[in-house]
Amino acid sequence: MEPAKIPVEPPKKRRIGVLTSGGDAPGMNGAVRAVVRMAIHSDCEAYAVFEGYEGLVNGGNMIRQLHWEDVRGWLSRGGTLIGSARCMTFRERAGRMKAAKNMVLRGIDALVVCGGDGSLTGADVFRAEWPSLLSDLVAAGELTREQVEPYKVLNIVGLVGSIDNDMSGTDATIGCYSSLTRICDAVDDVFDTAFSHQRGFVIEVMGRHCGWLALMSAISTGADWLFIPEMPPQDGWEDEMCSMITKNRKDRGKRRTIVIVAEGAQDRHLNKISSSKIKDILTDRLGLDTRTTVLGHTQRGGAACAYDRWLSTLQGVEAVKAILEQTPQSPVPVITIRENKIMRTPLMEAVQLTKDVTEKIQSKQFDAAMDMRDAEFKEYYDAYLNTATPDHPRLHLPEGKRMRIAIIHVGAPAGGMNPATRAAVAYCLTRGHTPIAIHNGFPGLVRHHNDKPVSSVREVRWLESDSWVNEGGSDIGTNRSLPSDDMDGVAKCFDLYKFDALFVVGGFEAFTAVSQLRQAREKYDAFKIPLIVLPATISNNVPGTEYSLGSDTCLNTLIDFCDAIRQSASSSRRRVFVIETQGGKSGYIATTAGLAVGAVAVYIPEEGIDIKMLSRDIDFLRDNFVRDKGANRAGKIILRNECASGTYTTQVVADMIKEEAKGRFESRAAVPGHFQQGGKPSPMDRVRALRMAIKCMRHIESYTGQSRDAIANDPLSSAVIGVKGSQVLFSPMGGDSGLEETETDWTRRRPKSEFWLELQDVVNTLSGRSASRTQEGWFCYENPSSIQSIPSVPNSP
Ligand code: ADP
Repeated sequence: MEPAKIPVEPPKKRRIGVLTSGGDAPGMNGAVRAVVRMAIHSDCEAYAVFEGYEGLVNGGNMIRQLHWEDVRGWLSRGGTLIGSARCMTFRERAGRMKAAKNMVLRGIDALVVCGGDGSLTGADVFRAEWPSLLSDLVAAGELTREQVEPYKVLNIVGLVGSIDNDMSGTDATIGCYSSLTRICDAVDDVFDTAFSHQRGFVIEVMGRHCGWLALMSAISTGADWLFIPEMPPQDGWEDEMCSMITKNRKDRGKRRTIVIVAEGAQDRHLNKISSSKIKDILTDRLGLDTRTTVLGHTQRGGAACAYDRWLSTLQGVEAVKAILEQTPQSPVPVITIRENKIMRTPLMEAVQLTKDVTEKIQSKQFDAAMDMRDAEFKEYYDAYLNTATPDHPRLHLPEGKRMRIAIIHVGAPAGGMNPATRAAVAYCLTRGHTPIAIHNGFPGLVRHHNDKPVSSVREVRWLESDSWVNEGGSDIGTNRSLPSDDMDGVAKCFDLYKFDALFVVGGFEAFTAVSQLRQAREKYDAFKIPLIVLPATISNNVPGTEYSLGSDTCLNTLIDFCDAIRQSASSSRRRVFVIETQGGKSGYIATTAGLAVGAVAVYIPEEGIDIKMLSRDIDFLRDNFVRDKGANRAGKIILRNECASGTYTTQVVADMIKEEAKGRFESRAAVPGHFQQGGKPSPMDRVRALRMAIKCMRHIESYTGQSRDAIANDPLSSAVIGVKGSQVLFSPMGGDSGLEETETDWTRRRPKSEFWLELQDVVNTLSGRSASRTQEGWFCYENPSSIQSIPSVPNSP
């Protein structure tokens, strides 16, 4: 080793390093951007280590300071812009010694590592060895005692970046939903060919030890058969697979056959099940014209989807907070997510659990491997099995327990309505219930009832619902009308069709409809049945949930729109786009899209717009363009919710900016309108539709055999399913603690308290438009050039 020639002065500001390691994943750039900006915002300096641990070992130019502007536009870039590598030297102590020396010479004592379980294990080893690495460096004369003194503790925080979603302890890893999107796009594309030619397709997806991508893509595309490493098929699977596919094709008339296989799929004796083997079986035994598609590296590429941008940004911010709060005693944390809650978990616990799953698979203890997987994964697997085909005689309930379950869509169309309905139908058929679709909402139900059933209320067949798996909008039709328009008629129809339960998919109107039916139970016995709402609306404004189906589809559509429109400014530069989002009186979509595209400002109804705000933002933009010095080729984005202000419309805001910019930059208004409802539902909306719909069906089923009064007396018999923090729960509509009373702002048609409001602060922090508020409640935007001197944070522990 070279002796250190440079005398090391501890830097004035704390330095936080960030590196990406292992396989690259979409979203890694978003994480680096968030770490860099949050570090600067917290009065620290940010350093990127290029090419993963390779850069840490080699030092020199591979460890460089990154400034605020350096990470502009990174949210929409695929791969990792600071590079990643597999580094053998870092596996050796000698390599880690060099890395430690480089860090001390740079004055860096904190590191955010974004990678898979290998990279994070390396980080943990590095932290554990750190004190001894420093004393060895001193003993060897590489560094002096004074030089290492300020850096006695190495702070490390892990972020999981991996397309496989193979880390235990977190629902999702940065990159996995983007990769799933790529896979679903590819499978959606072969759907048409498969249908046209009545072909079979065997599609191989990534995942050596983890079947998450395979399982989720099977759910999202309604695959006929699935192979994952954790749950190898029983011996004789070849016959079973062929018989199932034959039934689906011959008896039920399905024209296309899709089989999804994870690259690590194997049988119970650990023999590989390859895509070509499956193809041969289908071709030879069934004479089915079958093609194989191995998706390979396309699964890694491309820009991050909305969820990965959101996740990587919030986790990057959390990583910096965790670094600043770490004590010498605290174990290295990894930032995780459970449902909608960003959390910290001891890194080595998560890594150990991940390794244990792999070991269980390798020792053929498949049930144990499945048990060690996250509860969510098992639930999805179970839900897939329950909906892949109706052919499960074992799962049928006895005659007396079967129900007639009505399904209705209420409100505006949203991505995920069709997949949710398909899942509910498939589950009903699997269990022996009768699924009844009500076409075109409540008007469709009461239309010409006159005591005679009509065609807009009818039983759904499996094949008809199967194609809804990836279709946007609402196939059975949705309508905003409420039951109060004709309560007598609705009650009469409930009796006429003998509904035992009602499953309502939709937004705020769906919520209102069920509230009305619940309140009318006093008058009508017909409504004393389970009445369950599955929220589906792009506005995400239904009380009782932090997530509505369709909102993810809408966000993805919006970010595609914003990315494209921003790119359009690359020739003219210096352009601000004021983009109007939907969302009614809820600013959720605008704020989350703002986070995902890196908007400079977001205007929402919850805050309104006023002249001081606009004036400060125009100053902020002016300053921003000056600091860019034309280096940034893309335009800037302001998102304005459609109801943010009656006076300052999107066009007015754009015109005011243009006027005040005095020729220094331009401004344009853009309104994507109904485009935001999206085409095909996003994979996240598809998989969550399935999981939530099945949970609703199970909940409904739990009332089977109960008297009407017993049902009406149970508050959870009229309920909303929703994500609340780290859980998925049913919340009762009525009663003292029910949603109607406690959580609903009926006038503004949104929940009284909106969990996402704090995201506004993150948007403002990361755009440089600070989120600190003065006593009058105004935003007080710092001059971005002063950002580096805001609140001081404790220096090294
Ligand atoms: P992933 O992070 O995607 O699981 P790898 O397992 O290839 O990918 O790990 C990436 C890098 O992390 C390795 O090239 C190596 O530099 C480092 N690394 C992995 N495991 C260890 C370990 N046990 N000790 C030290 N470094 C490790």
